[in-house]
Amino acid sequence: MLNKIATPSETKKILKEYGLRLKKGLGQNFLIDANIIDIIIDAAEIKGDELLIEIGPGIGSLTQALLEELENGQLIAVEKDSEMVAVLKEIFAEENKLEVLNEDALEIDWAKIGEENKAKAIKVIANLPYYVTTPIIMGILESDIDLEKMIFMVQKEVGERICSGPGTKKFGSLSVAVQYHMQPEIVHQVPSSVFLPQPDVDSVIVSLTPYSENPYQEEVIDKDFFFQIVKSIFQQRRKTLRNSLSKSAVINLDRDLVTEALELEGIGLKKRGEKLEISEMISISNRIYKMRN
Ligand code: SAM
Repeated sequence: MLNKIATPSETKKILKEYGLRLKKGLGQNFLIDANIIDIIIDAAEIKGDELLIEIGPGIGSLTQALLEELENGQLIAVEKDSEMVAVLKEIFAEENKLEVLNEDALEIDWAKIGEENKAKAIKVIANLPYYVTTPIIMGILESDIDLEKMIFMVQKEVGERICSGPGTKKFGSLSVAVQYHMQPEIVHQVPSSVFLPQPDVDSVIVSLTPYSENPYQEEVIDKDFFFQIVKSIFQQRRKTLRNSLSKSAVINLDRDLVTEALELEGIGLKKRGEKLEISEMISISNRIYKMRN
C-alpha cells in the first residue's frame, strides 16, 4: 500500500529518493495538500468506469487519488518529462488501470482518443503546467472530443478569464472560446501554499461541463469567421463596436457594411463589444458573413 503522495513529507521523500530536481520551465509545482486533491476528485464526479485522462501527473499525487476512484475504468496519464515518467512507472508498477504516456499534451491527437473510446465516458483532469494552460485547454476543446467533464487547476487569473461574462473586465476572447464549447465554473480558490515549490500566483479549480444543448455551436455559420470577429472585438476593447470591427487588424471589414449590419441587428453603434452577450456576437458575425458572401 502506497503512502499518500500529496503530503509535504511524502513528496519530499519521493523527490529525494529518486534524485529529482524540479524543472521550473515545465511548471513543476506539486500538490502537497490532500484536501485540495479531494476537492478535485469530488468535482470530477467519478463513477468508476470512465476513461480518465490526466495531463502532467508529475510524481503522481493526483494520479494516486484518481486510481482509487476507478473500478473497471482506465487512466491515461500524459507526462512530458521522461524523468517523471520513469518514477511514475516505478511507483505505480502494480497498477494495471494506469497507462503512462511520455508525450507532450500539446501533441496529443485528442480527436483520435475520442474516436477510439466512443463508448466510454471521458473526463480530463489536470493540475496544469501554467506555461501552456491555454493552448492545452483550447487544443482539447477544438478537437471536438466528446467529454463528460474537464477539471483543471489553473492560474487564478486564467480561471477568472475563462469564467467571466459580458461587461466584466476579464471577459475576453478566452472566455468566448471556452464558453463556446463548454460551460465553465470556478469550483474552488486555491492558495499557492498547497504546492511544492510554491508558485508566485494563486490558483483556482475550474470545471468545464458540456451544455445539455449547446446554445452556440449550432448557430455559428462559419466558425473561423466568428472567431475573427471575436478577436477584433477584444483586440480594441475600449473602442466602440463599429470602430473595433471596421478597424480590425485581423479581418478587413468595410465601415459602411459594419454600420448597416449593426443597425439591422438593432445594436447601437457606440456600444462596446465587450458588453455583448456571446449570442449577440454570433448574430453580428452571421449577419456580416452573409452580407459579404
Ligand atoms: N499532477 C502533479 C501534481 O498535481 O502534483 C503535477 C502538476 S505540475 C503543476 C505540471 C506537470 O505537467 C509536471 O509534472 C510537468 O512535467 C508536466 N508537463 C509540463 N508540460 C507538459 C506538457 N506540455 N505535456 C505534458 N505534461 C507536461
